[in-house]
Order: sequence, then C-alpha cells, then structure tokens
Amino acid sequence: MPIVTRTGPGVNCREPAPLDHQAFHDPLTGLPNRARFMSSFSDALSSAAREKRNVAVLFMDVDRFKYVNDSLGHGVGDLLLAVLSRRLVGAADGALVARLGGDEFTILVTGNRPDMSARLIAQRIATALDQPFSIAGHELFVSMSIGAAVSTPRDKTITELLRKADIALYRAKADGRNCFVAFSDELDALSAELFDLDNALRHAVGRGELLLQYQPIVDLKTDAPSGMEALLRWNHPHRGILSPADFISMAEESGEIVHIGRWVLREACRQTVEFQKSLAGVSLVVSVNVSASEFRQPGFTDNVAQTLSETGLSPYLLKLELTESVLLGDVPGTLEILSELKNLGVGLSIDDFGTGYSSLSYLQRLPVDVLKIDQSFIGGLNREETAGPVLRAIVALGNALGMEIVAEGLETRAQVEFLGSIGCQFGQGFYYSQAVSPDAFVHLFELPPVVVRHGRNRKRLAG
Ligand code: C2E
Ligand code: MG
Ligand code: MG
Repeated sequence: MPIVTRTGPGVNCREPAPLDHQAFHDPLTGLPNRARFMSSFSDALSSAAREKRNVAVLFMDVDRFKYVNDSLGHGVGDLLLAVLSRRLVGAADGALVARLGGDEFTILVTGNRPDMSARLIAQRIATALDQPFSIAGHELFVSMSIGAAVSTPRDKTITELLRKADIALYRAKADGRNCFVAFSDELDALSAELFDLDNALRHAVGRGELLLQYQPIVDLKTDAPSGMEALLRWNHPHRGILSPADFISMAEESGEIVHIGRWVLREACRQTVEFQKSLAGVSLVVSVNVSASEFRQPGFTDNVAQTLSETGLSPYLLKLELTESVLLGDVPGTLEILSELKNLGVGLSIDDFGTGYSSLSYLQRLPVDVLKIDQSFIGGLNREETAGPVLRAIVALGNALGMEIVAEGLETRAQVEFLGSIGCQFGQGFYYSQAVSPDAFVHLFELPPVVVRHGRNRKRLAG
C-alpha cells in the first residue's frame, strides 16, 4: 500500500496526476522519489524567498544498512526500508518525506521555525526507532544519522542546501552515528578537515602510520598480568598521535576499517609472539578489538586462521573483543561465525558489556568466554549508589554463565578491592598501567608487581 504523505503548510506542492504517480513515487516505499522531492523543494525555496522565510531540509540514512543487506539479504533490507519509511512519515508530522535512493531519505521542513521543527522531527525519529523492527522473523534494532540545514538568504539553489545537509550528515556519522547534526559555517571548515583526515586514513596502513599500544589485563588476586589488550593509535603526519575515537568511526563508515583491522590483527599476533620470546616462561593472551564490519566481512574467520598460522601464534593466546552491538539482534550468521572462531581455538570477549542491549537469553546461547564490564559502571562506583549492586549483579551473571570477567577502567585501589571482593577475577585500567608501547610493556615485567600495580612508573612507561 503506498504511503500517503501530506505536505507541510506553505509547501506549494504540485500533486501529480494518478498516471504520473509512478514517475514521482518510489515503488518500494510509496514515498515521493527524488524527482518529486526536488520539484517540491525548489517550489518551497522560491516561495520562502518571496515571503522572507526559511526552509529546512533533513538528510538521513540508516546506520550500517549494508550489514542488513549483506547478512539478511536484500529482501529483508527492502522490507525494512518499507516499514521504516512509515515510521519516518509518522515522525515527520506532515512534513514531506522522500526516499532519494538506497537507504537515503530526506524531509522538507517549512513553516515559521523550520530550524526548531527540524530538530523536533529528528528527536521524534530517534524515539520512533527505539522499538526494534520485526522483519521476516528477525528483530532488528535500527538507528539513523541525520544532518540538517536551514536556508539562508544566500542559498539560491536546492543543491547548495542539500550540500550543507550532506556535510552535517557526514559529521553525524563521523561523530559515531545515531545522532543529529545541524549545519553551521564552522562545520563547513571542519568538514574539509574531516575530508582530509578520511583521505589520509586510507593511506595510513600503507605508509606505516598505525601503531599498537598494549594495556595489561591483570589477575586481581595475584596482580600478575595475564594478558593485554592491543589498542590502536594513528601517528598522523601533522597531528601527532590520534586515539581511536578520532578515526575509528570514520574508518567504519568508509570501509577502511577492514583493511586496518587486518593490519591490527596481524601486528598484535606478531608482537605477542615477540613478547613470548622476550618474556620466556610468561604466557600472555592478547585481546584484539574487532568492529562489526570486520566481523561481518566474508572470509573473516579464514583471515584469522591464516594470520595465526603465518605469525605462529597459538589460537589459545588470541581473544577477539566484540561489542554487544555486533552480537545483538540475532543476525543470522553471527552464531556460525562465532562457532567457527571457537573451533579454531580463539577466545571471544564481549566488550563494553552493559552499554548495549544484550538480551540475557541470547547471552546464554553465545559461545563467549569473557565478559568485559564497561568502565562507566566502575566510574559510577564513586558517584552512584546503584553502581555497586549493578556490578554485583553483572559479576554474578557472568559467573553463573561460566564466563571470565574483566573490569575495565580501574583507576583506584578502592575500585580494585571492591571488584575483587565481589568475585571479578581480572581488571584493566590506569591504576595498573595505561596502554604503552611494546618496549614499555616488556619493561612492566621487570618491575615488582607492586610497582606495576601502583602505576608509579606510569609516566615513564607511557612515554
Ligand atoms: P575498549 O576496547 O573498551 O578499550 C578500552 C579503552 O579504555 C581504551 O581507550 C583504554 O585506553 C581506555 N582505558 C583503559 N583503562 C582506563 C582507565 O582506567 N580509565 C579511563 N578513563 N580509560 C581507560 P582507547 O585506546 O582510546 O580505545 C577506545 C576504543 O577504541 C576501544 O575501547 C575500542 O572500542 C576501540 N579500539 C581501540 N583499538 C581498536 C582496534 O584496533 N580496532 C577497533 N575496531 N577498535 C579499536
Ligand atoms: Mg576492547
Ligand atoms: Mg571496552
């Protein structure tokens, strides 16, 4: 059934004759198509200019839509778009919603304060997406990134306004997706920078600009490191050392993460073999972070197997860290990939546990060995009364499921003691050591545990 879309007040929109319906509507969603949107937009901009008003445009797409198509098939992707478009129409409250193509949608906002209406619509869209979609037996959690631009007297063409909304959308994605960004002149300059960064990132692996630092994961009973997490840094030629927060989202968005992830895995395995040589007698397990797009890349398991065999690292000394969002939503294929990895002998960890929506029944079915409690819960110990009981519950849950538990972000002795007292076996955090270079990591083992523990050498080690 085609979706009926009303147009907002002030939009001088020519309703196409029934025979023209096909030419102006998207057959999948029933929404106005690009041609219809452009024509309505152009009319709205002209009348706004005459009446000295503004119009706003929202430009949005579905976060990680490609995974839905890749993992569930285009049929499910199409159904999702059709159902999603109904929620968008509901949230748009009368404003014109159009599908430009693929998973890209636009909303044309007119009226007295289109800037405020645009913001409200974005909020309503976020609320409308709170509930998962039930499509062909799958429960899908969907979020959208939204960019917005409001016309100024200088904006003579719809192309210019769409360019601004696109820049805002680009920024929303670079900020980690699932958010709303409104265009501003500063953003224009920032976008040029982001664009350069994006380009430079595509050469970072080839130019040898990436490096890994290692943060010990410590046995809370003995204070001895049982392993380490490999954490990625980018030594940018002009900006110096950048953290993952500055570039991982961008790499995920551009797809470069797959290339980067392969480098990370190989380097972490290679370095761990080196660590075994320099620290004879100490068996360390390396944990490597894996993004959703890497995990879903066809041939991911084969690449892990090949990397292990080429670097000579035992699979039992590798753990892959996946966030709840990767494991979430019962995406078919997830369990198969996890079992293939388990069959290789590789360990699996749920990273940042507690920040996503792990359904407890699902957790039970996952062949996961380690649960890493997100550092926000540990930080909460100093501020929130409920943090202690929540941590107790998470540790009890992990123990009941037979998982190892690692507390992330331990910064104080009180936190270490509390976590130890409630049955958490492992911890990681600045209290012990920051992530350090491979040389400094080896040096940690030359220090008596108490020094590692109290982080006295932290500055020296981090340098
Ligand atoms: P994560 O996997 O949860 O890693 C832990 C993060 O917490 C690291 O930040 C670490 O430096 C920081 N951290 C550790 N202890 C403490 C503490 O006591 N206090 C505080 N405030 N922070 C602490 P980092 O290195 O900036 O990494 C951030 C995130 O970037 C990681 O979170 C991970 O999700 C992602 N990441 C890092 N390396 C890679 C990588 O190689 N591939 C992918 N896909 N993601 C990566
Ligand atoms: Mg991690
Ligand atoms: Mg984490």
